[in-house]
Amino acid sequence: MNPIVFDSHCHIQDSAFDEDRERVYERASVQGIGLIVPGYSMDSSEAAVRFAECHENTYAMVGVHPHDAQTVGEDDYLRLQRWCEELKVVGIGEIGLDYHYMNSPRETQREVFRRQLMLARDLGIPVSVHSREAEADTIELIGKVPGVRGVLHCFTGTEEFARSLLQKGFYISFAGPISFKSAHDLRATIPTVPWDRLLVETDAPYLSPAPWRGQRNEPLRVIRNAEIVAAQKECTTKEVFATTLSNTHTIFSRIVGK
Ligand SMILES: [Zn+2]
Repeated sequence: MNPIVFDSHCHIQDSAFDEDRERVYERASVQGIGLIVPGYSMDSSEAAVRFAECHENTYAMVGVHPHDAQTVGEDDYLRLQRWCEELKVVGIGEIGLDYHYMNSPRETQREVFRRQLMLARDLGIPVSVHSREAEADTIELIGKVPGVRGVLHCFTGTEEFARSLLQKGFYISFAGPISFKSAHDLRATIPTVPWDRLLVETDAPYLSPAPWRGQRNEPLRVIRNAEIVAAQKECTTKEVFATTLSNTHTIFSRIVGK
């Protein structure tokens, strides 16, 4: 059965799901939710590839998160490249910049982000980008790799940031923060994102939407995020499902089926 909507970014391989991963997958799957599972380290990338291999409507991305940027060696880029030869690997992610936690030095984050952007561009596959307190540098580095395609995942930025990303051809994916009570400005950016650039995700196990804020998140809750997008776009949830499904197929063009 083909999915009716994609959770375009969830970490079902994470240890938060060690007790009940198959049940979490089933709960989403029976509702017609397909999954894109990005890595955030070398180990979690490998786990994403292995999970996608044996689950229907599930695809993997491989990449190293800015938190772990300082662990990346030359061999790792080769391993990432090799994983991309696998059938169900549809992109490089999640990669990016995080100047909030600064778990890796700024220059290292920039370099590892740049190398992974180039890898994706050279392989002709999209990226999933994390950006926290680093809007200007994110735009600068994307701009330095002409032709790279991708998604800004869990968008929580300014309207200006959204505009710059759209100008670069990027897609914008919304997650649980759009449901938070105080997130008026963030919700106001939703109508400014054109229909053909919109995606939805959960970023599970993180960022459960209200009313489950603070609890472990799971892919099933992408429905809640789609409902909020629908309210902002003044359309039905079904229309958000159909549009974001079609956009997922366009940007993640290695996904098979319709
Ligand atoms: Zn993530």
